[in-house]
Amino acid sequence: MTLVDGFGRVHRDLRISLTDKCSLRCTYCMPAEGVPWLERDSILTTDEIERVARVAVGLGVTEIRLTGGEPLVRKDAVEVVRRLAALGPEVSMTTNGLRLAELAVPLREAGLARVNVSLDTLDRAKFLELTRRDRLDDVLAGIEAARAAGFTPLKINAVAMRDVNEDEIVDLVRYAVSLGAQLRFIEQMPLDAGHTWDRGHMVPGSEILERLGAAFRLEPVGDRGSSPADTWTLDGGPATVGVIASVTAPFCAACDRIRITADGHVRNCLFAREESDLVPVLRGGGTDDDLVRILTSSIAAKRAGHGIDSPTFVQPIRPMSAIGG
Ligand code: SAM
Ligand code: SF4
Repeated sequence: MTLVDGFGRVHRDLRISLTDKCSLRCTYCMPAEGVPWLERDSILTTDEIERVARVAVGLGVTEIRLTGGEPLVRKDAVEVVRRLAALGPEVSMTTNGLRLAELAVPLREAGLARVNVSLDTLDRAKFLELTRRDRLDDVLAGIEAARAAGFTPLKINAVAMRDVNEDEIVDLVRYAVSLGAQLRFIEQMPLDAGHTWDRGHMVPGSEILERLGAAFRLEPVGDRGSSPADTWTLDGGPATVGVIASVTAPFCAACDRIRITADGHVRNCLFAREESDLVPVLRGGGTDDDLVRILTSSIAAKRAGHGIDSPTFVQPIRPMSAIGG
């Protein structure tokens, strides 16, 4: 049995949120204060995460990405990596990088295959404004530690924002290239806690490319498969840059992702309005077959696309930090 939906999309990429907590407060993701945290008891235990992952691997999942909130604020994040890697899939992580200086080597030893670090600006004052924390140096040290620990290809994610960091698009790429890393720009999506997303504030992928094209010779790199990023070589390569135009050029038709929130809810899309709760099965003596039924029926009900452009689009209630990006 596989996780196949009504449009024939086979789901092989499982995203598990390890926590809704975070050490930053990025404006496009979390509120400055008053975050409605999940109850501590509702967060899946490591045993529960391992059990769900094992069932998902049995259903054909080949990649597990750990995310959050900030996955590395979870105390046993390295142990989670070790247990999930032992199940066989490729385990990767998206992190804000703050704890990577300390954890890059243990994570690598535990079997983490790849790491994506989020970094939107190289300017300390702007970083403080954007994340509401003065921690740019820690992120840069984390990125350096990940590189030194042998995480290749290292990817750096940046959300491009009008009048905030659009003037740094080329500088961010040069910084990534200097480390042998790939910069991937992400269009800002309507997933902020304050529901203040505004299309005019988003820098569309086409404009990101225009700015890059003025500084580098860009050549498209073939088929992107199920990857959300379109990729270009820079000045003949080998360095590359990626653009994830989730809003203006959605990749929903090739989506192979399924998500589990930190409190054990299955989401078949970032923008899903419905979730399926695994906890009654996990904590109520249910069987693995019961988990299989919930996972397969959630995927069977997946919609064709996120519908951001539809007049009936309604932003999900959970912000990105609570869904697991
Ligand atoms: N805390 C980790 C981090 O920042 O990498 C992992 C979780 S975060 C929700 C995952 C990714 O989602 C980050 O690269 C972040 O920049 C991105 N993200 C968060 N809110 C977003 C939004 N509204 N639009 C686009 N990307 C967003
Ligand atoms: Fe935290 Fe990542 Fe959201 Fe920033 S994007 S607030 S680092 S979860």
